Amino acid sequence: DFTFADRVERVSPSATLAISNKASALEADGVDVVDLSVGEPDFDTPQPIKNAAEDALDAGHTGYTSSNGIPELREAIADKLADDGLTFYDSENIIVTPGGKQALFEVFQTLIDDGDEVALLDPAWVSYEAMTKIAGGTITRVDTATHDFALEPAIPDLADAVSDETELLVVNSPGNPHGAVYSDSALESVRDIAVEHDITVISDEIYKEITYHDTTATSLGTLSGMEDRTITVNGFSKAYAMTGWRLGYFAAPESVIEQAGKVHSHSVSCATNFVQRAGVTALEDVDEEIDEMVEAFSERREFLVSAFADHGVDIVEPDGAFYMMVPVADDDQAWCDEAISNAHVATVPGSAFGTPGYARLSYANSKDRLAEAVDRLVDEDLL
Ligand code: PLP
Repeated sequence: DFTFADRVERVSPSATLAISNKASALEADGVDVVDLSVGEPDFDTPQPIKNAAEDALDAGHTGYTSSNGIPELREAIADKLADDGLTFYDSENIIVTPGGKQALFEVFQTLIDDGDEVALLDPAWVSYEAMTKIAGGTITRVDTATHDFALEPAIPDLADAVSDETELLVVNSPGNPHGAVYSDSALESVRDIAVEHDITVISDEIYKEITYHDTTATSLGTLSGMEDRTITVNGFSKAYAMTGWRLGYFAAPESVIEQAGKVHSHSVSCATNFVQRAGVTALEDVDEEIDEMVEAFSERREFLVSAFADHGVDIVEPDGAFYMMVPVADDDQAWCDEAISNAHVATVPGSAFGTPGYARLSYANSKDRLAEAVDRLVDEDLL
C-alpha cells in the first residue's frame, strides 16, 4: 500500500479526461464522435515553424540549453511583449517553459504556500484550481456567469471576495471556457483592487492572439501600477497550433524570476532545445498563418452562434479564444453525459469550470462537423 501525499489527494482527476475517455471508448467501438471537448486548434503547425525545428535538429541543437531558455528566444519574446505594450520586460525577466501550463505551475509553486488565498474568476480554466491545491492554497471564487462572463459587472463581487489575505488573482482574457475579453475599465478596476490589497496578478494571455472583429485583449501589465505585480503568461500552443510541441513562457519582475528559476531548473531543466529554436521562427516569421486560423475560428463561431439561435438557444458571443458556453440543463453533467452517450457529441460540463448549467464547446472543428453536432443534439432533444 502507498501513502499518498496530501497535495495529490486534494486534487480530483480532470473532468475533461472523463469525457475524452468516453469519446475514445465509443470511437474504439466504431462510433463517429464529434469531439467539441478539445482545447486545441484543429490546424497543423505552420510549415516555417516545422522547417525551423528540422533545421535545428540537423544543426545538432539537441542538448540542454541554459535553464531559462536560449537568449535568441527570450529576446524574441521580450520584443513580442514590447509590441503588446509590455515594454519593461527584457530577456532577463523571462523563463521559457515546456508549455504555458508548466509556466503557471511554476508560478503557483513559487508564490503560494499552505493556506495562501488565490482568487479565481469563475468560470475558470480547470488547472488553476488544481495548481492552487497542489501548492496548498485556498480559493476564493467570483462568479461572472451571471453577468454574461463580463468582468466589469462582477467587480463589486471581486472587491468583496478579496482581502489583504489574498496572495494571488488569476485573470485570463480572452478566457477559457467562455471566450470573453475583458474591457479596459474592468481591468482598471482589477488594478485598483490589486493595488489596494497588495495582490499579485497572473495575466494568462495564452489566447491573446485569437480575438474577433476589432477586439483586442489588453495586457494587464500595461496598466500603470501593474508592472511590479503582474506575471504575464503566454505560449505557442494556441496561436501557432503548437500544442504538442510544449512551448510557453512567463515574464515577471526579477525577484520572481530568481525564485521561480529554482523550481524550473530543479524540475524541467529547460524547454526542448530545437523546439525553442522553432519558437523564434514562430514569433519572427509567422503572421499570415495566424490571421488565417483566426479568420477560420471567427467564421465557425458565427456559424455556431446562429445555428444555436435557430434552435432558440442564446449564446453569449465570445470575443476571443475558440470556446463558447452553451446554457444547458441545471444538471450539466447529465446533459454532457447524454450528449456523448446518445448524440455522440463530446462537450465539457460547465461545473468542471465552477459554473454548472452550461456546457463548454470548442469550435476548433470544421463547419460541417459543427453543423453535424447541432443536428445530433437537436435529434436527441438536447437543444
Ligand atoms: N491557460 C489556459 C487558459 C489554457 O486553456 C491552456 C490550455 O488549455 C493553457 C493555459 C496551457 O496551454 P499550454 O500548456 O499548451 O501552453
